[in-house]
Amino acid sequence: MPPVTENRADSQQGFATRAIHAGQEPDPQTGAVVPPIHQVSTFKQDGVGGLRGGYEYSRSANPTRTALEECLAALEGGLRALAFASGLAAEDTLLRTVLSPGDHVVLPDDAYGGTYRLFARVLQRWGVEHTAAHMPDATAVAAVIQPGRTKLVWVETPSNPLLGVSDIAALAAVAHAAGALLVVDNTFASPYLQQPLALGADVVVHSTTKYLGGHSDVVGGALVVSDAELAQQLVFHQNAMGAVPGPFDSWLVLRGAKTLAVRMDRHCENARAVVALLKDHPEVSQVFWPGLPEHDGHEVAARQMRDFGGMVSFRVRGGLDAALRVCAATRIFTLAESLGGVESLIEHPGKMTHASVAGSALEVPADLVRLSVGIEDIEDLLHDLEQALAAAKG
Ligand SMILES: *Cc1c(COP(=O)(O)O)cnc(C)c1O
Repeated sequence: MPPVTENRADSQQGFATRAIHAGQEPDPQTGAVVPPIHQVSTFKQDGVGGLRGGYEYSRSANPTRTALEECLAALEGGLRALAFASGLAAEDTLLRTVLSPGDHVVLPDDAYGGTYRLFARVLQRWGVEHTAAHMPDATAVAAVIQPGRTKLVWVETPSNPLLGVSDIAALAAVAHAAGALLVVDNTFASPYLQQPLALGADVVVHSTTKYLGGHSDVVGGALVVSDAELAQQLVFHQNAMGAVPGPFDSWLVLRGAKTLAVRMDRHCENARAVVALLKDHPEVSQVFWPGLPEHDGHEVAARQMRDFGGMVSFRVRGGLDAALRVCAATRIFTLAESLGGVESLIEHPGKMTHASVAGSALEVPADLVRLSVGIEDIEDLLHDLEQALAAAKG
């Protein structure tokens, strides 16, 4: 078994301090202030079984990955974090650790497309059933729970792409009353804006590809838990299934995490200004952002989040073609999938990220445009959106 390193960070320290120091002691041999990239597969043993630092083979554990895992555990206030090669690899490892054939799960009716596909096209074949529910309504979630069979409730908040907000504490109560685990995909909020474990969640999932990495230069995922037994089971499956990130990818995510707090503050501030522009724009019929007082989830978001995030979606009055014209007309907002990087991105969920849910209950409006508001100068971003919206009319 690889060593289980538990969260040793000083929980009294502030978020930004933990992001920069947790798991990142200066290298004891050289004094290097940044954890080295241990680009190595195997470790010399001093006699059979004589491991120097507990490391024997990098699938089981690698020091650069350990540094990242300790940092992520500290940022989410968890006992143990585990890093993976992608967000979906983290999800797959979690699901095949805690679920068995015959089990049932409750999924959001606006789940991330890849998560939905994993349940509908992969896990279903292994005998795991799912029901989609409107997660902001905890009563509706309780109504679809199958006593004895439902083992897991999955929620993303804010959700993708409609920025729905769900009450994590209320869902934890519903899940726990049925003996199920509550899993929160915290990718959109990041641990800086929201800490689900403290609100009662059992597992936090991240695509570290997004805000945690923050620079659109790495694909990665993570799980964070506070229960020691669940942590042990996940460590076993992480090694047994092998979907681990390499040392360099681990290092890139760790490097990104150091600036998460300052980046998120700017993402939120820029999103607030973008929303103000979209709200009053004649080509825009509806804006989705949890910071808007009229947003259905505004009160819950204000209670469980530090700020409202950098993701903004809106509907274009002219319909599908007008929405596609806006997506094609931006110059600074780059037309691309993904989110959470320093650069602003624009996309059409119906034809891009959410194409795989067309025709299902999870289908998104055809006139919807999603923005990942970056941290460029806000004047430039607003100017770019103004000129792109002028193209909506065609
Ligand atoms: C991107 C994303 C994932 C999947 O992560 P990958 O790193 O692409 O595998 C899961 N959930 C959400 C909310 C995401 O945005």
